[in-house]
Amino acid sequence: MIYSDPYTSTLNFVPQGDRSLGINPYRLLLDPYKEIPEYKPIEINKKLLREEIQQKLYEYFTKAAGCDQPTKCDPAKLMEIKMNTIKGYTPEFRAIGNMINDSNTKHYVVNGKHSIVLDSDPELAKKLAQETDSIIHDFLKRSSKKLPTKIYIVSEELNINKPHLPFEVGVAKHVREKDRIGMIELIAGEYVDKSGKRIKSLENQDTLSHEVGHVILETLNPEASREVHEAFADSVAFLTQASKEESIRKIIQQNIDLTKTNFISQISENSHYYRQLQEHPFYKDPNDKKDYIRNLAGNYVYDPKEDNPYKKSLSLSSTIYSSWAEYIKYLQSTGLPKEVAIKKANETFKDLLVKTAETPENIDIPKFANSFIQNIKDPILKEIFTKNAIQRKIPINSD
Ligand SMILES: [Zn+2]
Repeated sequence: MIYSDPYTSTLNFVPQGDRSLGINPYRLLLDPYKEIPEYKPIEINKKLLREEIQQKLYEYFTKAAGCDQPTKCDPAKLMEIKMNTIKGYTPEFRAIGNMINDSNTKHYVVNGKHSIVLDSDPELAKKLAQETDSIIHDFLKRSSKKLPTKIYIVSEELNINKPHLPFEVGVAKHVREKDRIGMIELIAGEYVDKSGKRIKSLENQDTLSHEVGHVILETLNPEASREVHEAFADSVAFLTQASKEESIRKIIQQNIDLTKTNFISQISENSHYYRQLQEHPFYKDPNDKKDYIRNLAGNYVYDPKEDNPYKKSLSLSSTIYSSWAEYIKYLQSTGLPKEVAIKKANETFKDLLVKTAETPENIDIPKFANSFIQNIKDPILKEIFTKNAIQRKIPINSD
């Protein structure tokens, strides 16, 4: 089964015991690069890295053990503290170990405004940092809340520990958790190595913006439910795609009807990743012809008993999507050119998403939808959104 993102968080999923007992290894690896010039790829010196990480761990161990220097520490005691320091993070430490020992591949760090990226391709690292920063800025500029920490982006993380592919391919994940030092935001991607060719999931713009959407919602409201998270993240993904100049040009030139299935409504369609994954012998399914993961242009009925958060999220995300598409048509009917209508709808919906996410009680789909309606200023849009929500059987308050 392929999921778009095994989204994890301290709220509902801690994979390796209590990670707050250990130190996230990416912190040790990437934090020293937080002061380098922005968006300039720096090659990691693997020999130095090994020493630096060792030294940092030792510094931490000795401090925790109350010795001045590692050499003055009882070796048995030091080992015990070391084991506790990496508690919960052993696979990631192994991943970094593999990376250091891989003499064929170079690795680069790019320091962004809101992100710090590790990748074997310096240009991709730069692109990921710039795109992440731009999405974060685009949404959080509408709020007084600030991203608490830089997002670590490791686009090959999920693979490093799994050289024999691919029984467990997750496309990407976002992790928010606490380690011994503080809060961590991490976006990790997967790549499929098919005949030596790497296909990195985060190269897919929808996947990256979806994961960044989770970070944005965590910042605005750490109490949101899983299904609200998925709907919010997909909304960030489609609005980010719809805001690109080349997308707007394509919509106008090809006269695309946004209310029907199209490249904006199809999450992940703009990437080769999912298609190539489908071609992989392990995944080849003759019945599965689609080249996207979720399509928001649909009429998905709200089911409170649905367990799968991705399926459950569709009633809300498709309400948001369809209302956005219908609102553009309405704006055009008032005489606005299509380009202006799209841009206005994009801004309106980004504002509404942020404002609604900040509402303290918006923990589930009905509460989110109701609060969204209350935040709408334009009575016509209020009408459009209410109609779409009711059509999908989301309980809407009549007052
Ligand atoms: Zn997600």
